[in-house]
Amino acid sequence: MTTLAGHCHCGAIRVEFETGKPVAELPLRSCQCGFCRRHGARTTSDPTCRLHIEAAPGSINRYRFGRRAVEALICDECGVYVASLLQTETAAFATLNVAGVELPGFADRTAEPAIYDEETDEERLARRKARWTPTILVEALPSA
Ligand SMILES: [Zn+2]
Repeated sequence: MTTLAGHCHCGAIRVEFETGKPVAELPLRSCQCGFCRRHGARTTSDPTCRLHIEAAPGSINRYRFGRRAVEALICDECGVYVASLLQTETAAFATLNVAGVELPGFADRTAEPAIYDEETDEERLARRKARWTPTILVEALPSA
């Protein structure tokens, strides 16, 4: 396993992406929805990888839009869009904005434009569960 590390601009939200594949084999997408275009998001996900997100107390702004099924995790301090998180009863899955956290290995690649407008809610949920990365989000508690 290789661990790729990154963080938002201010460092309040830190990520570790564990992959058993070469970085070059991980997908790189540019979702064409209005939110991702505004952020210039370039995302990756892989169901065989693992994503750990560690956030300082109060540093995550959770933005929901559209069908409100997922949370866009935005740093409350620096405004960087870090990841989108799908929480199910049993597990969490995410797509990571590698541009936002400057994850190494993606900078010189061209992202594949992705358009999901035609999906039904069921198709969207199934795609996210199948393609997104199993994720653990840890929010540190404020110290006393
Ligand atoms: Zn930040």
